[in-house]
Amino acid sequence: MSENHRWMQRDLAVLWHPCTQMKDHEQLPLIPIRRAEGIWLEDFEGKRYLDAVSSWWVNVFGHANPRINARIRQQLEQLEHVMLAGFSHAPVIELSERLVQITPEGLSRVFYADNGSSGIEVALKMSYHYWRNLGQSEKKRFVTLTNSYHGETIAAMSVGDVPLFTDTYKPLLLDCFKVPSPDCYLRPEGVSWEEHSQALFVPMEQCLADHHHEIAAVIVEPLIQGAGGMRMYHPIYLKLLREACDRYGVHLIADEIAVGFGRTGTLFACEQAQISPDFMVLSKALTGGYLPMAAVLTTDQVYQAFYDDYSTLRAFLHSHTYTGNPLACAAALATLDIFAEDRVIERNQGLATHMRKATAHLSDHPHVAEVRQTGMVLAIELVQDKASKTPYPWQQRRGLAVYQHALERGALLRPLGNVVYFLPPYIITPEQIDFLAEVATEGIDRATQQKVQVAVSACAPDQFRDPG
Ligand SMILES: *Cc1c(COP(=O)(O)O)cnc(C)c1O
Repeated sequence: MSENHRWMQRDLAVLWHPCTQMKDHEQLPLIPIRRAEGIWLEDFEGKRYLDAVSSWWVNVFGHANPRINARIRQQLEQLEHVMLAGFSHAPVIELSERLVQITPEGLSRVFYADNGSSGIEVALKMSYHYWRNLGQSEKKRFVTLTNSYHGETIAAMSVGDVPLFTDTYKPLLLDCFKVPSPDCYLRPEGVSWEEHSQALFVPMEQCLADHHHEIAAVIVEPLIQGAGGMRMYHPIYLKLLREACDRYGVHLIADEIAVGFGRTGTLFACEQAQISPDFMVLSKALTGGYLPMAAVLTTDQVYQAFYDDYSTLRAFLHSHTYTGNPLACAAALATLDIFAEDRVIERNQGLATHMRKATAHLSDHPHVAEVRQTGMVLAIELVQDKASKTPYPWQQRRGLAVYQHALERGALLRPLGNVVYFLPPYIITPEQIDFLAEVATEGIDRATQQKVQVAVSACAPDQFRDPG
């Protein structure tokens, strides 16, 4: 038995993997990774895979990055962890100062959680609690966009709208207002991204006009709806949303968990609309892909609404055990150093252009409806019929065939349903982008030429997809 296979068998005997129908692994091999360096993952038999999705969008400067490793090692010798209630430490103070400095103006307070979903819970609770502290406890509902994703915990799922992830749990969820997404994929022919996103603001404006007295906050993924299939929209929408939230007295929560730290071409996506949200949630690339941590930034106005004598019971009594872990803070500080020292955002412009050119030919593919890009995210939407943008039946799992082909060729290209995307670490080279483009093209050719026989179950809704 091969080394990989041995590890796989031990794994499958005891583990339950995230976002996975475990029965798939009767056919689909599980890949045990022994080590990783730079953009490459290496399995137990020495086969290498180019990490084209940054290990679920977290890794920005490569695996085993010497600078991040050194900083964590140094911290490890000093302090591995201390509780953050009543205690503090240098890395968390330094990181908070720097986050306040680099995020949009007005965000001056940092609260920590230990993963993205928990960060979303913090923002939702803080927003509701803010209005309550002001004597407006009727403001308790949230507005979200269709096709949005904000995480897996119950409230985070409530403000999400990817049916595959949420439908099962509907009876458990909060009742939110859902407003059509400004997603430009389905814009009418001849209409620009800007015109389309602007036109889609009308229902949001209407929702706020009708219900602002009971709304605490609007939550959005700025510019890219990630788990919803890398659907993209124009910054104009965020600009209009910020103005409307101010006019109606509603908070704006920017979930930059996936898009923060340079992914959209600017350090934060909100910069492209020149707005500051009332809450900004960061995670994923925050620690360079090393350790789980989330940061929720908010304004002095929000902070002051909680600041009072203990007996008024206005405090935000929320905690996660590993809040502000020093090792995670050290990884984040090293990551921020690299952004500051290496002119990453500028260099990424060249890489983004290269990604566009390397995949331009796919626009003409008979089963590609769109190749779209925002900064360092490039997405290729596969369809059954190009003219009408009719999707493949989800049961055919065409994207999965691309994934399998890419693995054979040595690339990790895990798609979102029928959306194949590149979301690489920023250390990728132009040659590696060419390799990815070649692998993706071959994979898409194979996947779309395949004759697939699937029994389509009558009870399965069409909008279901393969998980990311
Ligand atoms: C990944 C993600 C989350 C959830 O973060 P976890 O750390 O997986 O809980 C929330 N929002 C967005 C936009 C994400 O991409």
